[in-house]
Amino acid sequence: MTPQDVLAELTALADGDVPTHGGATMAYVYDSGLPEVDALAAGAQAAYQWTNALDPTAFPSVARIENDLVAAAAALLGGGRDTVGTVTSGGTESCLLAVLAARTRWRAAHPDDDRRPQLLLPVTAHPAFRKAAHLFDLTVVDLGVDPDTCRVRPAEVAARLTTRTALVVVSAPSYPHGVLDPVTEVAALAAAAGVPCHVDACIGGWLLPHLEAEPFDLSVSGVTSLSVDLHKYGYAPKGVSVLLTGDPEFRHRHWFATAGWPGYPVVNPTLAGTRPAGPMAAAWAVHRWLGTEGYRELALAAREATRGLVAGLAGVPGVRVVGTPAATLVALAGTDSLDVLHLADEATARGWLLQPQPPFAQPDGSVLPATLHLTVTAATTDRVPALLADLTDAAQAALTLAPPVPDPGLLAAAADLDPATLSVADVDGLLLLAGLDGGPLPTRMAPVHALVAALPRPLAERLLAGVLDRVYRPTP
Ligand SMILES: *Cc1c(COP(=O)(O)O)cnc(C)c1O
Repeated sequence: MTPQDVLAELTALADGDVPTHGGATMAYVYDSGLPEVDALAAGAQAAYQWTNALDPTAFPSVARIENDLVAAAAALLGGGRDTVGTVTSGGTESCLLAVLAARTRWRAAHPDDDRRPQLLLPVTAHPAFRKAAHLFDLTVVDLGVDPDTCRVRPAEVAARLTTRTALVVVSAPSYPHGVLDPVTEVAALAAAAGVPCHVDACIGGWLLPHLEAEPFDLSVSGVTSLSVDLHKYGYAPKGVSVLLTGDPEFRHRHWFATAGWPGYPVVNPTLAGTRPAGPMAAAWAVHRWLGTEGYRELALAAREATRGLVAGLAGVPGVRVVGTPAATLVALAGTDSLDVLHLADEATARGWLLQPQPPFAQPDGSVLPATLHLTVTAATTDRVPALLADLTDAAQAALTLAPPVPDPGLLAAAADLDPATLSVADVDGLLLLAGLDGGPLPTRMAPVHALVAALPRPLAERLLAGVLDRVYRPTP
């Protein structure tokens, strides 16, 4: 085989994937619509693909790239002279490190308290924070959100802040509904209690400063750290995000240093050892080329498309927009007769990926309805009329379908299962019974989502992991 043959084989593998470009995949990917961005990012990645960002003394150019990215993020997001930051592999890692720093800080401040510190988390906060609590041994205190606005209520935060609180999180905006939490009020409450407050601006941080949004960034009193992804609306390739803080002590608390082995002395600012420099270099190049003005134009184009979409949705039968979209994310719920989980399947059949979000029971028993998540990027701009036409058609089809009802027999059987006692083989067997034989997933996912929503949460989580266990198996 020639290298060209290999490359052709590799690119052919992607034939079954959803498209990364063109604006129809409205989750996971962020298309600027500018071919120059793609070419520049590819060139920058190629130039740095063998560089190891593990050691900035061997590769000082990487330190320069990281410092420039942190400076750009700080300038955009209300940073001051003291702002420092860390370039990470993505939003999840930025959020993990913020929680790790807060936990380390709490432990240092409470040396005689061996209880678990708490993480105050609106239910709409990204699961990266739940993962952080799981990994770093904190207890999540779930904060319900207002069922109409989907924003966390400051009173709820005030009621739960205690001396055990290590960190309060707010989102700007939240991923599920694209709405902005009341950052100013929550950060003030946290500050008054002497607790750090993290703003998760992973998805919106590179966008909101160009749209007239409520204050949400590091300039807000009481905000102690902020995460922002470059691989989302920074239009950089995957693998780059920034964690900012105005407190150098806070940053120090998520670093790791050891001289405790016979090898090289180690200092890791992030969770990884070896770190790819390619995505950082690509983000640097894209940022350098687009500049503030370029990002502003892309942000305004995406918002224009979002406004056109929201206005046009009034004419689509059976759907409504949830909350007030603060940026360019839209959450669609169904009215009484339309199930949005069916709508997602109908949209898939018409070439659109609209991400289904199952109904969610809050701690107080109120239920956030099932929604579809639409991330609008600059590339969607020209496609809004086509999207609205396909959505209308899809909605008419979905309106004829009865709501997906999970098999009562399956639910009854599931009620007796304790997920903690199930082995990998047990779960495999259950999934086989449910008709998942390891072949392709069903084309209609609505019944699967309905089942997941109806099962006890720990069991649903165990079964979902089982589905992926089946997906990740080498073919002989
Ligand atoms: C995407 C996202 C994250 C996690 O980022 P990854 O890059 O997917 O790891 C965290 N918070 C919010 C609000 C996000 O949208």
